Amino acid sequence: MKILLGPAGIPLTAKGEGNPEGVRKVRELGFGAMEVEFTHGIQMENELAKEVGRAQKETKVKLSVHSPYFINLASAEPKKIKASKARILQSCERAHYMNASPVVFHPGFYGNYTPQETFDFIKKGILEITDKIREKGWSLSIAPETTGKVSQFGTLDELLLLLKEIKDKNCTLCLDFAHMWARYHGKVDYNEVMKKVKKLGHIHSHFSQIAYGEKGERNHMTFSESREKSPPVEGVCKAILASRQDITIISESPVLEQDSMKMKKIFEKLGHKF
Ligand SMILES: [Zn+2]
Repeated sequence: MKILLGPAGIPLTAKGEGNPEGVRKVRELGFGAMEVEFTHGIQMENELAKEVGRAQKETKVKLSVHSPYFINLASAEPKKIKASKARILQSCERAHYMNASPVVFHPGFYGNYTPQETFDFIKKGILEITDKIREKGWSLSIAPETTGKVSQFGTLDELLLLLKEIKDKNCTLCLDFAHMWARYHGKVDYNEVMKKVKKLGHIHSHFSQIAYGEKGERNHMTFSESREKSPPVEGVCKAILASRQDITIISESPVLEQDSMKMKKIFEKLGHKF
């Protein structure tokens, strides 16, 4: 079983050095994955993406991309849906040059729609995007993520149903262990979660400690800030090991790779060999 760990963005130890150096640093630190962050907008030109792609080939670090937060495929305003699709496709274009996959995104908000209406909007948007990916000949997947706020579309069951209906090899999902914890106020059985995603093959996931309130996710925290109500790091590791599922786990902790390292040590303590 293969477990790849790594940071959401350029490692702190390579801060300010850019994504190509970030990828090399990830390898130097002994990790196998990194997510390139476009969460606050896509500032990367294709030329730089190609440079990141060269660093990827050199190091074999598994790259993925996080699309901008500003996405809503179920907006009541058609022009916002259009802009959302464009942002995901621009992320895909960079991902293509970086040899990165999947391209993760938060699919949207229910707003005034019912969950079913929201589902239909998001399904339609995704199908248009995957058509475009095929048309361009990009070999990558997009991955709607399990979300942490009750106002956001993206429970695990919604996403699994979406994948079942879409049946498209260019669409998978991103499992965010912390978001699920925040959304359900700590009532999550991670063994059940791993069973549900069993047939998806290599899983792409996010993990960090998280604070939540009535409406779900508040903010991500480091392992050392975690308290009683935080998701159990060892419990998540155990559920993953028990599932024997190949997985990439991106650390979305404020201290990025430092918590990847902590997670690595926990996996090793539980008997996994990297
Ligand atoms: Zn995310």
